[in-house]
Amino acid sequence: YKNYMKLELHSKSQNEAFARVVVAAFAAQLDPTIEEISDIKTAVSEAVTNAIIHAYEEKNAMVTIICRIIDNELEIIVEDRGKGIEDIEKAKEPLYTSKPELERSGMGFTVMETFMDKVDVYSELGEGTKIIMTK
Ligand code: ATP
Ligand code: MG
Repeated sequence: YKNYMKLELHSKSQNEAFARVVVAAFAAQLDPTIEEISDIKTAVSEAVTNAIIHAYEEKNAMVTIICRIIDNELEIIVEDRGKGIEDIEKAKEPLYTSKPELERSGMGFTVMETFMDKVDVYSELGEGTKIIMTK
């Protein structure tokens, strides 16, 4: 690939904004439109928030973000080693949330799929979750 970066963050909510800005700065070398940058930030925000809220719940652990430029595309990987997703298809359904009490709307995966060209989800219960998105 043409370029690569890896960022490791504690799963704290204040790191979500940091992750989003770092990925946007990395994406800048592809000369994206303002709209494309905004789409990328939104998708990263959803994936990182999920790792913080769902994967580790209250515990402090690491979230890894990898960005690669392949041809003229940006690939973003958001990975956690948290609890994993039992049913990926159900998790991806619009409005499905396992935390309605936290006022989650269940739209995170739908947002990622809307704003990115491709979203792949790999998850193993008790092992963690990996989201690979490209644009
Ligand atoms: P919203 O994103 O609208 O605030 P949400 O996070 O519940 O609500 P999604 O982002 O679409 O909705 O995720 C759907 C469900 O998938 C979550 O409620 C959660 O059960 C599960 N999930 C998502 N990401 C992870 C993850 N990294 N680890 C474990 N479970 C996850
Ligand atoms: Mg979410």
